[in-house]
Parts: sequence; structure tokens; C-alpha cells
Amino acid sequence: MTVNLIGLDQEALRGFCAGLGEKPYRARQLLRWIHHAGVDDFSAMTDMAKPLRERLAESASIAAPRVLRDTTAADGTRKWLLDVGTGNAIETVFIPEGDRGGLSRGPACGDATPERDASASDLVASILSAGRSPSRGPASRAPRRYRGTLCISSQAGCALECSFCSTGKQGFNRNLTVEEIIGQLWLASRALRSRDALAPGLRTAQSAVGSLGRGVTEERPISNVVMMGMGEPLANLENVVAAMRLMLDDSAYGLSRRRVTLSTAGLVPGIDRLREACPVALAVSLHAPNDALRDELVPINRKYPIRELLAACRRYLSKAPRDFVTFEYVMLAGVNDSVGQARELAALVSEVPCKINLIPFNPFSGVDYQRSSPEAIARFRDVLMQAGLVTTVRKTRGEDIAAACGQLAGRVLDRTRRTESRQQELPR
Ligand code: SAH
Repeated sequence: MTVNLIGLDQEALRGFCAGLGEKPYRARQLLRWIHHAGVDDFSAMTDMAKPLRERLAESASIAAPRVLRDTTAADGTRKWLLDVGTGNAIETVFIPEGDRGGLSRGPACGDATPERDASASDLVASILSAGRSPSRGPASRAPRRYRGTLCISSQAGCALECSFCSTGKQGFNRNLTVEEIIGQLWLASRALRSRDALAPGLRTAQSAVGSLGRGVTEERPISNVVMMGMGEPLANLENVVAAMRLMLDDSAYGLSRRRVTLSTAGLVPGIDRLREACPVALAVSLHAPNDALRDELVPINRKYPIRELLAACRRYLSKAPRDFVTFEYVMLAGVNDSVGQARELAALVSEVPCKINLIPFNPFSGVDYQRSSPEAIARFRDVLMQAGLVTTVRKTRGEDIAAACGQLAGRVLDRTRRTESRQQELPR
């Protein structure tokens, strides 16, 4: 049986090389070819002797999930549907953001970590936004340079059943493997690189390898990764951490911890374990200003109530690469979007250094919630900003290809048979 090298980190690759009687430095070479150059063919690894390449080809493979569908939205958002076997499919989304900027900013699956890089068009945007808002918040902030965010899935389905999330409605099948998680970044990097006019093949590989060790460069299409696709990443912590280590490794993707964001519905022990294992930027799906409402929207709250969750966030900050946690808050009309609830939220989070990211609800079939009106969102944001909280409103992207937050459905064979048991509960 061959070993799939795509999910092995540097240490594991060293072990694999030792098994072949090869020196440890081969591990770094392999990492660079696989992740930096996006090569899946050992014969392209020209700095290794031919007999070694042949032995590698016999004993190993480099395989990401198979692409079932590849769709690009009118706004440039691109979504891949990937086969993860036994009838299950997951989704990965790429959200490019130019320096055109916007007043309501951020990708469909992210914007937990807004950058403040100045760019040539900052002036234009600052003129556009002049006088629109007080000194803090999205409208006044200058747009950053190009940013490309990849939103990655961590599970086939999700077991948490948040009431407004389409992934949660499908039920849960299984955790993704390290290969399937990092394979999403591998595939997207490769697809985007070839789109960006570098001819695929050996020359591409060599030029990419030639630039190793410098970390992420401006021209790389993926500058940020958010674990905000299908699934709850902290419920698959071991595999997610192993994949994130590859994201951070200079010989692989070389992303800084600040540019990798993990979003959780609030698994408190998981937050503590992440802090020790691999602290990256943290986003927490809060969505409600009190336990009564959060119990309803995010049922895991019954197990880990808000007070415990906020304490875990404070503990996390001692090791976090950023000095704040991002609280995500989905805007549901008439449910959690009143001025009173904004005040309650501001008081609730006052003890945690944080930014708030308001996400306009993205509807999907079979759900009763409505998106809050732009006026309600602006009012809510203003209350938070007046309370001194940095607040952004997430720009919804890729709606025409159902790639927006909470719309990722993929295809999941529900092992929990949740759908069936629900149907049985329905009166006939
Ligand atoms: N399980 C992780 C990742 C989920 S997806 C978590 O809960 O954080 C990332 C974000 O999208 C979460 O904040 C999630 O609550 C939000 N989301 C889910 N469904 C949504 C929808 N229909 N509209 C808008 N945001 C949604």
C-alpha cells in the first residue's frame, strides 16, 4: 500500500524518509515540492536522483480529494465541491478581495482578521467613506491591499445543529482526515496559481521552489485561511492542528499564525487545547447576547454557557497571535438584532478584548429566519461602536453560487440519521 504524503508534516516526512534509508533533509525537499510547488508527480522532483524518484513513486502518492464541481461567482468567489468518498462531498471557497475596498467589508467566510495595509486606492476609499461613521469601524477604515482568503471545511456535515446553518441541518457524517483538510489548500493553491498565468508543469514547479523560504509573497493567491467551512474544527482538533501546522510551515505554505483563523461555535475544552497545541487567530460564533437565546441558536451553549466561553476566550488571548478574539454574530431579523440586544451584547463582551463581525444571515431553503434589514444592521453596529467596540459588517460574497457563510452544504450521508428522526417526529 502506498502512503499519501500530502498530509504528512515535516517530522512525519522525516520518518517516512528514514524508512527509505534517506537523509532527513529530504523531508524538506518533499514538503517544498508538494505544497510550495503543488507537484503530485515524483518524476517532476528534479533535485532528487532518478532512482529515488522511482522508489518514491512505488511507495507513495500525493493525492487531494477529487474535484466534483468548480464554480466561480460573478464577484470572483470560487467554490469547489470535493469528493471525500462514500457518497460525501465537502465544499471549499476562495474569496478574492482586491484593493477596491468596500464600506461593508470582508469575505463570505471570514474577515475575522481585517488587515490595515495602506494601498494606492486608500485615498479613494477614505474619500468615499468620509463622514459616514465615527472614527472606528468598517466605514472609516482604509481598505487593505489584495487579499485572497480560502475557507476550508473540517468535517463532512456538522453535529452541532445551529438552528440557522445549512451544514448543521444536514447532519454529521465524519471528521475529515489531515489529507482532506490540507488537500483543500493544496488544490486551491494549485488551481489559482495556474489561473494566474503560470503554465502548469515543471517550469511552474521550479519557479515556485526557487522562491522558497521567503514565506508568503504578495503574489500568492491565498494569503489567508479561515477554518469556517463545513463542520466544527474544534470537534476534529487533532487533524485540524496537523493540517494547520502544514499551513504555518515555511517549507509548505508559510502562513503566519495571524493569517490562519479558526472559527468555533464554542467548544470550551477545545479552545484550551488549541491554545496549547497551535494558537492561531480565534473567531467565536457568539450570535446571542444571553444564554436563553444562545441555547436556542447554538445548542452547544447548553453544555458550555456564555460565561465559561468568555473565560476560555480570555485564557486564549495569553497565547494568541492577535490581541483580540473576533466574535461573529449572525444578524437574524427580529431574533437577535434589536438595539436592546446590541446594548446587552456590548455589556457582555466588555471584559474580553475583541472585535465584532456582524454577518447578515444567508438564507437557504427550508429555514424560517430572515436576514436583518440593512438599517437594523447599521443600528446594531452603531450601538456597538458607540460602546467602543470595533465592529465590521461582513460583506456577503458568492451568493449566486451558494458559497456564502452557512450555505455550504456539500453532500452528507447523515450517520446520525437526524433527518429521518426529525421526519418521524413530524405529525402526519
Ligand atoms: N463551526 C464553526 C464554523 C462554522 S461556519 C463555527 O460555528 O464557528 C462560520 C460562520 O458562519 C459561523 O459564525 C456560523 O455561525 C456562520 N453561519 C452559519 N450559518 C450561517 C448563515 N446561514 N448565515 C450567516 N452565517 C452563518
